Amino acid sequence: MSESLLSELKSELLAIADLNSAAMVLEWDQSTYMPAAGADARGRQIALLGELAHARRTAPRMTELFRGLSAVAERDDLDGALVRRARKQWERATCVPTSLVSEIKSHTARSYVAWTQAKPSGDFAAVRPFLEKTVELSRRYAECFPTREHILDPLIDANDPGMTTQSIRALFAALRAQLVPIVQAIAERPAPDRGFLERHFPADAQLAFGAEVAKELGYDFARGRQDLTVHPFMIRFAADDIRITTRVDEHDLSDALFGTIHEAGHAMYEQGIAHALDGTPLGEGVSAGVHESQSRLWENLVGRSRAFWARFLPIAQARFPEQLGDVDLDTFYRGINRVERSLVRTESDEVTYNLHVMLRFDLEVQLLEGSLKVADLPEAWDARMASDLGVRPSSPTQGCMQDVHWYCTTIGGTFQGYALGNVIAAQVFESARAAMPDLDARLSGGDFASLRGWLTENLYQHGARYEPDELVKRVTGKPIAIDAFVRHLKAKYGALYGVTF
Ligand code: ZN
Repeated sequence: MSESLLSELKSELLAIADLNSAAMVLEWDQSTYMPAAGADARGRQIALLGELAHARRTAPRMTELFRGLSAVAERDDLDGALVRRARKQWERATCVPTSLVSEIKSHTARSYVAWTQAKPSGDFAAVRPFLEKTVELSRRYAECFPTREHILDPLIDANDPGMTTQSIRALFAALRAQLVPIVQAIAERPAPDRGFLERHFPADAQLAFGAEVAKELGYDFARGRQDLTVHPFMIRFAADDIRITTRVDEHDLSDALFGTIHEAGHAMYEQGIAHALDGTPLGEGVSAGVHESQSRLWENLVGRSRAFWARFLPIAQARFPEQLGDVDLDTFYRGINRVERSLVRTESDEVTYNLHVMLRFDLEVQLLEGSLKVADLPEAWDARMASDLGVRPSSPTQGCMQDVHWYCTTIGGTFQGYALGNVIAAQVFESARAAMPDLDARLSGGDFASLRGWLTENLYQHGARYEPDELVKRVTGKPIAIDAFVRHLKAKYGALYGVTF
């Protein structure tokens, strides 16, 4: 009995996954090749596919299927995990009235346009009424979910299952206490030169170099491709079609290069998921935090290591002899790891990055709790920048209007994933290093397959089978914690800046 219900559920879930993938192909095209004039029709087409998927997911038959499969959901095997994750997605889809979903969509579409117009001049007054409405809608959205201790909990749970406002607050408070003095100590030391990264690097040569690096790390171009876009992303249509995008700044080598390694890290995670899980709710990265841990692991822990550049600097110099011929390994390594107390999150380094994220998380908690008024947001932002990073934005353009997130969707639930990613990446990498004590020698010798194989075996292949905390425990033997990340920063940047932490 339950076997036939299970196969009916799986075929229904595959149809939903295919509808969603078809919508994603349209989104990918919109962000890469579509003429801007196609936006209206494209929006309509994507919305229609979304409605079809939603209708199938919330069909009355689903209630019967999940009722009939309640015993399977208790099981410890793959099917048990599949039914649990599908049931959770179904519950989330049925919790929120369709009318509220459309209200949020049409409001945030207008808010996004207002933000793009007001951002260049930092005209916060122009976006303020939109943001006030977004806070209200975000609260109403969160209130649709019956089980929650904090208003932000359901929003966090959507992206980082198992985490709560409480658990993230505790983790972030401990992390902030460690980071602020590290940044302070580094700021007092002389800054390394990175001018050589800002020489002229032609776009075509940068793209070719980025593709060579991604390929050598193990991103499989036979099951993917790379295209240009404005805001780079990775996207999965199916197990054998996982694409990355990038952008190029001809006057900064690091933008395209580290962006490409970052997206390739996301993509290698997806490419490593067991084929058998494709088209099911388990055939995807398990959470925002774990996903970001894999992009950051490859971008920062591998891509900004001395071992990596022992391998790739000669290759970069052969491609860019005039620009990099006079730069030695030590200078290069120091330059790509320069720590700066900067205003903009997306341009920030490995050490300061999490401070930018935690500031956003704390402010969105306060906005949703009602303890911070939207009108007071710019000042609250600037004050926190001053206390954490020692810099103060001169305009909201580089302050609370810099990121698109709060202006294009509901507020809450997305930023924590970026910081969790850095934390989890260090923890996973420390375990990989313990399993392969000669890891640095392997990386500098161009052997990236060992690390990728270890990650695939221990983490990637499982997709979303295990909840994030359980997965991290299986990989590292410990629950998610900041220790490995702090150890990594102190060791790497202590040596780089001649500071004893
Ligand atoms: Zn990412």
